[in-house]
Amino acid sequence: MNIALIAHDNKKPALIEFVTAYKDILGQEQNQLFATGTTGLILTEATGLKIHRFQSGPLGGDQEIGALIAKNQMDIVIFFRDPLTAQPHEPDVTALVRLCDVYSIPLATNMGTAEILIHGLERGDLSWRKVVKETAGVKDE
Ligand code: PGA
Repeated sequence: MNIALIAHDNKKPALIEFVTAYKDILGQEQNQLFATGTTGLILTEATGLKIHRFQSGPLGGDQEIGALIAKNQMDIVIFFRDPLTAQPHEPDVTALVRLCDVYSIPLATNMGTAEILIHGLERGDLSWRKVVKETAGVKDE
């Protein structure tokens, strides 16, 4: 599964906690991890996981992840948004969430939903994504 990890600044500590707790699941061989620039950097430093990093969110990273969603190549998005702080790239954030809905990509915007998503991943509940991609002829890059 291709998994995107993103956190706004105030939520980065929570995402580090989450990824550390579920490192064994996220780090499984069949999973590829992607992140916006700063999130990816701090997660790699904290967990040692191999994570493909895009640009920082405000510099286009959200849009890069959005592009993968538009190509149906992203399977899960874990995006710890900060609902209490205005973001300079709010339109990009909205666009990313919208694309998840366009392509029915499982999206967690907080720890509570992310927990459920990760347990679903472990149980194989998301294997329908493989079928969707095979049917659509989508190749992971
Ligand atoms: P960052 O971007 O990981 O580069 O901080 C996250 C975001 O604000 O979208």
